[in-house]
Order: sequence, then structure tokens, then C-alpha cells
Amino acid sequence: MDADAITLQEVEELVVARRGSVAFPPALETRYERETGPRRARFLVSTTLRTALIYNLFIICEYLLAPDTFLLATALHLLVVTPWMLFVAHILPSVASAKWREGLAASITIAMVAQVLGIYTLTSSEYAARYVYFAPIIYLCVASIQRMPVAWGVRLAAAVFVMITTANFVRGETPPPIAVVNAMTFAAIAGVIINSNYLTSREQRRLYLLAVRDQLRAEVSDSDANADALTGLGNRRFLDKRARALWSGAPMQVAAIIFDADHFKSFNDTYGHSRGDTCLKRVAACATAELRETSDVAIRLGGEEFLLLLVDTDAEVAEIVAERIRATIAALGIPHVGNPAGVVTSSFGVASASTRTATLEELIEKADAALYVAKSAGRNRTQRHDMLRQTAAAA
Ligand code: GH3
Ligand code: MG
Ligand code: MG
Repeated sequence: MDADAITLQEVEELVVARRGSVAFPPALETRYERETGPRRARFLVSTTLRTALIYNLFIICEYLLAPDTFLLATALHLLVVTPWMLFVAHILPSVASAKWREGLAASITIAMVAQVLGIYTLTSSEYAARYVYFAPIIYLCVASIQRMPVAWGVRLAAAVFVMITTANFVRGETPPPIAVVNAMTFAAIAGVIINSNYLTSREQRRLYLLAVRDQLRAEVSDSDANADALTGLGNRRFLDKRARALWSGAPMQVAAIIFDADHFKSFNDTYGHSRGDTCLKRVAACATAELRETSDVAIRLGGEEFLLLLVDTDAEVAEIVAERIRATIAALGIPHVGNPAGVVTSSFGVASASTRTATLEELIEKADAALYVAKSAGRNRTQRHDMLRQTAAAA
């Protein structure tokens, strides 16, 4: 089973549950990240490149507001912060973890804010107090454009707040009332942005959840349409599908085992139809237990008759498998007075052919002919089609 397998029922419950948290259970979170992570990375790359462009247009503001540090600011813009942004944009698509991806995106804001605050602490421009407003504005714009997940939005807001407070402290010019008003304004606007990002992310995840639900519903109804309701084995429609796939691929040896419960009419007559149904379910389970889950096919042909297709299997091996299933069914020990064996038994016909030389119908005909012989020879036995002549000669 997939590590990120999630059942339809779990998803239905999540859809109904009205939860404040945007996080999914681990299995769904892994799937969500796998399916939406690459798109999120592409989105961040494009916002990073646009941010870099706008950020560098503001070099002109460096000149206007802090001319004395203009050269240093330009060098920081072009030689430190912009290369970092380009580096982040370059590696984002190959970053596998969501944590690293969001962390790298957040680092862009940190780099720009650090540049502004660095200049702020160094400039002796009369407009320094105006200049420093770039720091919170950068955070507010980028956090909003990047639609940062709540946890990262909060972390980043806290980091930017600490950086601004430290820079103000180092410069020592902000009067306390202004510092308090600035802090409150920043917290309020950051709160609005974080909340709006939270609502967006919750909505996106809800839409994703509904899409997963629809997909799982479609898968379930598809598998219902392919399954026999009583035993859960494949039905004839499923057989057609699998056979088409097998016969259209590279030629291979396919074995068919047809088996049929012995004297089953008398079982129903004696024990009732409902116990008959239960018995058929148990008989079917004996067969599936012996098959390879991914490649072999188990079909209920109808009534108490079943077909197994074993890929890459010759008659000899198929006979061994059939014998094992036959023994398991008898060993269930389901009482059956109408059967000379005293318990429920089944008879088996086995044939094998290459998909290159025989059609499915021809293969089934052979297995069926062998089954007929197994029935005539006394039931509760396996007959191989390629041994029919020897069996007849021995009789
Ligand atoms: P044989 O050993 O020759 O196969 O004898 P049989 O009685 O099993 O064969 P027959 O074909 O005469 O009867 C098959 C019986 O299987 C008829 C029916 O009562 C029973 N049967 C078929 N489908 C179902 C089913 O879905 N549920 C139950 N309970 N019985 C079924
Ligand atoms: Mg029968
Ligand atoms: Mg039958």
C-alpha cells in the first residue's frame, strides 16, 4: 500500500468536519505536497523574479532618501541581495521539502529587510526616519504576494519585527511613543495579511480535499463496476479489461484455472441459499489467497464457477496452484452431506497457452474441457488439459 494512501471514508469525514486547522492528516499532507508542491515552487520562482525587479527599481529611492550610502546600498542590491534572490529562484524547483521551500522564500524578505536596516543604521541622511519604513513595507508586500503559509508568516513577521526593533535601538533616534505606534501598526497589518493568507490556504485545501474525494469516489465506483458483489472477485467486465491488456502486450504464457463447487445445488437445497452464499465467499477467498495480487486475475464467471488467470505460468505450475486451492477448500471442512466427500469440495480444470497462439476464449475452452473431465472422473480433483490423452489412456 502507498505510504500516502487515504481511504474515501477518511476523506468524507474530513470534508464534513469543520476544523480551524489547515493541516491535513499526515497521509493526505504528503499527497497534497506531492501534487501541489511543484506548482507552489513555480509560483514562488515567478514572484521572486518580479520582486527582484521591483526591489532594484527602488535603488532610485536609495539615492533620493539616503544619498550618502547610495554606493554601498547599490552594491548590496546588486551584489548580495539580487544574487541571493536569483539563487533561490534557481534552486526552488528542485527543493523537495515544503519546509525548505517556504524557508527559502522567507529568506528573500529577510535579505531585503536586512539591507534596508543596514543602510538605516549607517546613513546620516535627514530622511533616515522615512527611509526605514521600507523595512515593514517589504515584509507586508512580499508576505502577501507569496501567500506565505501561516506558520511561516508568523515566524517571518516576528523576525522582521526583531530586526527593525534592533536597528531602531542601534540607531537610537526613534522616540518611544513612535516606536510603540510603529510596533502596533506593524502587528496589526501583519495580522491582517497572515489571516488573509490563512483563509486563502484553507480555501485551497478545501478545494483540494473535494477534488480528492471526487477522484476516490470515481475509483470506488469504477472498482464496484468491475467486481462481483458477492465474492469481491472480478466480474466478466473486469476479465475483458484485463484480458485485453494481457493479449495486447508482449506475448506471454498465461495459465487458466477454472473451478466449480461440487454438488452445489444440493448444498443450497440442504442448507439454504444464504449459507450457500457464505460458502461461495469462503471458497473464493481460498483462491485469492494463492494468487499474486498485482499480476494474477480472479474472476467469478457466474454461479459457483470461477476462473483464475496466472501470467507467466505454465500448466505444470498452474496445476500445483490449483491443487493447493483444492486442498485448502476441502480443508475448510464445510459440512456438505450431499457430497460424497462429506465436505464442500471443488473440481479444477487447468490449461496454459501463449497469448501469441491462443485467444482467451480458446484458453478458457481448454480449461473448461479439462474441468468437465475432472467432474466426470469423480470431482474434487484437478485435471490438466495437456494431460487429457494420458488420463484417457490410463482410464
Ligand atoms: P456439479 O458438481 O456438477 O458442479 O454440481 P452442481 O450442483 O454444483 O452444479 P449445477 O450446475 O447443477 O448447480 C449449480 C448450483 O449452484 C445451482 C445453484 O443452486 C447454485 N448457485 C449458483 N449461483 C449461486 C449463488 O450465487 N449463490 C448460491 N447460494 N448458490 C448458487
Ligand atoms: Mg458445481
Ligand atoms: Mg457450475
